[in-house]
Amino acid sequence: MDKLVSLCKRRGFIFQSSEVYGGLNSCYDYGPMGVELKNNIKSCWWRAMTYHHDNIEGVDASILMHPRVWEASGHVAGFTDPLVDCKACKARFRADHVATSQCPRKPSKAPGEHHECKLTEPRMFNLMFKTFMGPVEDQAAVVFLRPETAQGIFVNFLNVVNSSRQKLPFGIAQIGKAFRNEVTPGNFIFRTREFEQMEMQFFVRPGEDEEWFEKWRATRLEWHHAIGIRPEKLRWHPHGPTELAHYAKAAFDIEYEFPFGWQEIEGIHNRTDFDLSRHQEYSGKRLTYFDEARKEHYVPYVIETSVGCDRVLLTTLVDAYHEEQAGEEVRVVLRLSPKIAPIKAAILPLVKKDGLPEIAAGITKDLMRDYRVFYDDVASVGKRYRRQDEVGTPYCITVDSQTLVDQTVTVRERDTMAQERIAATALREYLAARVRFD
Ligand code: ATP
Repeated sequence: MDKLVSLCKRRGFIFQSSEVYGGLNSCYDYGPMGVELKNNIKSCWWRAMTYHHDNIEGVDASILMHPRVWEASGHVAGFTDPLVDCKACKARFRADHVATSQCPRKPSKAPGEHHECKLTEPRMFNLMFKTFMGPVEDQAAVVFLRPETAQGIFVNFLNVVNSSRQKLPFGIAQIGKAFRNEVTPGNFIFRTREFEQMEMQFFVRPGEDEEWFEKWRATRLEWHHAIGIRPEKLRWHPHGPTELAHYAKAAFDIEYEFPFGWQEIEGIHNRTDFDLSRHQEYSGKRLTYFDEARKEHYVPYVIETSVGCDRVLLTTLVDAYHEEQAGEEVRVVLRLSPKIAPIKAAILPLVKKDGLPEIAAGITKDLMRDYRVFYDDVASVGKRYRRQDEVGTPYCITVDSQTLVDQTVTVRERDTMAQERIAATALREYLAARVRFD
């Protein structure tokens, strides 16, 4: 992980937030490469969920919501983690993570294992961030930063039904920030207090929920394969009865094998009619669906797919990072899928003379309308290839003296390092066939 964290900083993927002030614990900023990668991941998810399904609509709900939303959803009463403090060293741990945590004392041991350790009894700690709406900081002005994006979908269920004329089964998708005052954030961007979720709530007739749950499980696992994650590094974790959330009838996590162990990256949940029924009860507004074919009103069941964008981004980086011997050197290469790679192609004039830079600049200008591409004429071509390998650029296009003769260029593929010659006019199509998420 240390090598990856240092690459992320050096090459502009991820920086510590407010670094010049010493940083803010567990908050991160995405740099020029990171923001491209993140946008590409979001766009692959959005395309897969909405463009590829004519029965899924998108929304973008506000982060601040009516405080009653969080009473109805159960978050005010129950969105808590058990917290234990060590009175000896003042460290704080999640009670359910004690076995896998480390006491700050040396030699490293789990909390409670040094004889000086004095762990308190667990106490419940609500993870929602609170703030105030308006100038007066009193109880009536309390609002929360949303801890999940899902509730913005539930409270808009009827708005979407009425405005889109969708019929069950159909889904609503959303990408947006969520905030959780995690007791123990960590492992770089794996667990942070501010993060982005990509969630889809699929509304179905009660009784059809189990079938849809299985369909969405399969579809979501395929998506992780489609963005290039190695299948052998992914597995299912079914929630047992003691793990199930209060709203869920069934839940499966997709886990990835990180250097720090198997961890959840996505949850697929059968939320039953819990959320809509609770909002109906707390708001006093009817949130039933009228099934015209059956001539009946009912509260739909919901299958949720919920994935963290930042966690997927970390997964793609961990999965892609490779070091390999290339001649005398160690080549660091990010084998990112071309669909999500921050830069799709680098355009490199072999030498800085004979009009090659001008031709390369012309190709860059032509491709940049469709793709994030990068022109580079500094240092030897070998060094320039290595720089692109490190940020995962799948194709390097080199303009050389042959280009002056027949308007062809070489395209070097990142993983195999194989080169082929193609007409400069065919580049746009060449990239289209390889970097688009279809
Ligand atoms: P965990 O058990 O890791 O705390 P969770 O089961 O509470 O996660 P969900 O509420 O199901 O997580 O959230 C759905 C997804 O949102 C998770 O699979 C994860 O990808 C992402 N996520 C949740 N909490 C965080 C966080 N603190 N930082 C980054 N991503 C998160």
